[in-house]
Amino acid sequence: VIHSKSVEDLAARLAAFPGIGPKTALRLALHVLRIPPQEVEALARSILQVQQRVRRCAVCHVMTETDPCPVCTDQGRDQGLLMVVEDSEDVAAVERTGAYRGRYHVLGGVLSPLEGVGPQDLNLDSLRARLRTGGLREVILAVNPTLEGEATTLYLQRLLRDADLAVTRLARGIPVGGQLDQYDEVTLEKAITGRSPA
Ligand SMILES: [Zn+2]
Repeated sequence: VIHSKSVEDLAARLAAFPGIGPKTALRLALHVLRIPPQEVEALARSILQVQQRVRRCAVCHVMTETDPCPVCTDQGRDQGLLMVVEDSEDVAAVERTGAYRGRYHVLGGVLSPLEGVGPQDLNLDSLRARLRTGGLREVILAVNPTLEGEATTLYLQRLLRDADLAVTRLARGIPVGGQLDQYDEVTLEKAITGRSPA
């Protein structure tokens, strides 16, 4: 294909996805020409469905198709244990370990003065509300240990200082700069089980 505006458009859109460089984007765009029309339609429908059906859980803010999410409604999970994470991918990573049976609170980001992200931009009001409702005995701070993540953890420690519960953080198996969803299940499981007072 030479000088095809539609192929170039598609490639440009695909290149906007994380982890997709311009070369891969072009290869994927050209691949569309080789698959049957009904497959292309199914792909387009899948993309629309994900956007239409997936929303945030009103309780923990994780991405889910049912609100409240399956974790929040699961009565078999430990109601006294709450893990605070940055985003939904972190919940997915921890869930894959099978090592955690409590609930989650997704902040929806980290504090970043440089990018204009302040406390009001994170899901902190709902976190405070969950603390007030009581019934919690431990909050696990599991924000990714990046520079901004550490600042966020510090902020959370201050916020939780007067709460009558244990505040812990993941063990240091996760290096500074690391992200929860980059680690294999064993490393992450060790970080969870070896958590320490924050
Ligand atoms: Zn939930």
